[in-house]
Order: sequence, then structure tokens, then C-alpha cells
Amino acid sequence: MAVLLTFLNEQPAWSDIPLILITSGGETTQASLRVFNAFGSSGNITLVERPFRAITLISTVQVSLRARRRQYQTRSLMETLEQRVTERTQKLEETISELEAFSYSVSHDLRAPLRAMQGYSHVLIEDFSEGMDEKAREYIRRILTASERLDRLIQDVLTYSRFTRGDIEVSRVSLEPLVYDIVQQYPALQAPRAEVEIRTPLLPVAGHTGSLTQCISNLLTNAVKFVSPGTSPHVSIWTESIDSDVLIYIHDNGIGIPPAHQKRIFSMFERGPHTAGYEGTGIGLAIVKKAVERMGGSVGVQSEPGAGSKFWIQLAAA
Ligand code: ADP
Repeated sequence: MAVLLTFLNEQPAWSDIPLILITSGGETTQASLRVFNAFGSSGNITLVERPFRAITLISTVQVSLRARRRQYQTRSLMETLEQRVTERTQKLEETISELEAFSYSVSHDLRAPLRAMQGYSHVLIEDFSEGMDEKAREYIRRILTASERLDRLIQDVLTYSRFTRGDIEVSRVSLEPLVYDIVQQYPALQAPRAEVEIRTPLLPVAGHTGSLTQCISNLLTNAVKFVSPGTSPHVSIWTESIDSDVLIYIHDNGIGIPPAHQKRIFSMFERGPHTAGYEGTGIGLAIVKKAVERMGGSVGVQSEPGAGSKFWIQLAAA
């Protein structure tokens, strides 16, 4: 009976084998009661007590066979559906990668005419501005600003699509030198423009150097950018270990993010409220999310408007 019970419990989702139990005659015995109870409510069991008429047995067997046939039908339906889902998923994945390749080449090709616009605007300002009135000079400056903004947008889209293409290899990354290098690279992260406190030691993580550099620079440059006018940016970066993971924290004294926006800001082109005076394209955090997920990690933020933000990246420990 134990073997039968194990077998019944291990049936696939579509299967519920019907059992017919024929008991000895007379009173319901303790033995048949025990069997009946052992199968409990999960067993598909019919009890036929002796004496029974032939028609009783025949109809019971017929009902059971009919039920079993239905189960086989369900199984083949499930197999067909599974096959269809697999095919559609494959098609979707192909479409997505085609779209990604498309957006990459479009973005790439957009930069050439843009460079011509920027170049000729520069020439106009540098070589011909003397003969122009102030209004004309102002218009050219606006063309330049707009084309620079478009260029930044295209570059960000290109960076984003770079993180959606190809596989990356995860290996041990020493976070500490990586963070020092980033701070060295950006004047906006150095005194007197900002104070970035690196709370050493920073634990090594399992990641990808290029992707992590992109993520940490995006988070640090955001941290010193989104401060109220007149506030001097103060940012801390540190790590903590939990179980077999490492959490990287970046805490700032900036304008903060209302709870309703804290999830949305990680989507493409999403900018929080009150960002009108701050430059940006709304792609930086989407890049961070994509890159972190490709390293097998996750990213999030804790924040309160006016009380700074604490972004975190969770990755496996190295
Ligand atoms: P961008 O910086 O170009 O606007 P991001 O994708 O980097 O785009 O950020 C999306 C939005 O998230 C920002 O527009 C801003 O509203 C909010 N945000 C990001 N980092 C911070 C931060 N450290 N403090 C406050 N708000 C932030």
C-alpha cells in the first residue's frame, strides 16, 4: 500500500489514476476502512462492496475509464499548449533582439548628421558671430544646446542597448579601486564641488567591471546632482555583507524621491518630479537596473523627499 501511495502522490499534474477497491462481503471490515482512509481525500478511489451486481462493477469500470481518458486528453492539450508557448517565446525573443539591433543602428546613424549640426553651429559662432546681431547669436546657441542634449540622449540610448546585447561574464571585482578610479575621473565628485566619503573596506563582489563602473558612476553622479540649490553635496558609499551577498550603499543628502516614484525612476525615460532644473535624460537608472540584473543582482532605493536618498545594489559576494 505504501508503494501505491507514493506512486499516486508522484503523479504529474494532469493525472489522477482511478482506483476500484472490491471488498470482502458482509460488514464493512476494519481493513477496508483503513485502506479507504489511507487514500484520504486525495485518492480517486471507488469502493465496491460484495456482494455486488455485475452491472454495478461494469458501470464503475466504465466511469473510471472515461475519467482516465479525459486525463489523457488534458495531458495532450497541455503538451500542445506548452509547445505553443515555447514557439511564441522564441519568436518574441527574436523580435526583441531584432528591435534592439534596429534601435542600436538607428541611434548610431543619428549621430553623424547631428555632429554636422554641432560642427557648423560652432563654426558660425566662432568665425561669423561678429557680423550677427545678438538675437542670431542666441538662436545659434540654442541650436547648439539642443543638439548637445540630443547627442547625450542618443549616447545614453546606445549605452542602454549595449547592456541589452551579448552575454557578460561575471567574475571577482575589487570594488575599492574601482570606486576610487571613478571619483578621480569626475571633477563633480571631488572637493570643492562635492564630498564623497568612501567607507573602506569595500567588499569585493561577483560582477563585471565595465557594467559595475557604469552603475556606480551613474549612481554617484546622480547623488551629487540632485541636491537643493545652495546645498553642498555629501555622499557616502559603503558595503555590507548579508548571507552570501554584498550590498553596496550610496547615500546622499539630496532632494529625495517621493515613494510613488521610487519604482518608476528605474524605467526608461522616467524622471522624478521637481527635476526641471536638473540636466538629464531619464535613462541613467534604467541602465543601472539592466546592468545589475545582467550580473544576477538587484537594485533599489530608500528615500524621503527632502531627506536624501539611499540607493543599493545587491550582488553575490566574490
Ligand atoms: P536622469 O538623472 O538623467 O534624470 P536617471 O535615470 O539617472 O535620469 O534618474 C531618473 C530620475 O530619478 C531622476 O530624474 C530623478 O528624478 C531621480 N533620481 C535619481 N537619482 C536621484 C538622487 N540621488 N536623488 C534624488 N532623485 C534622484
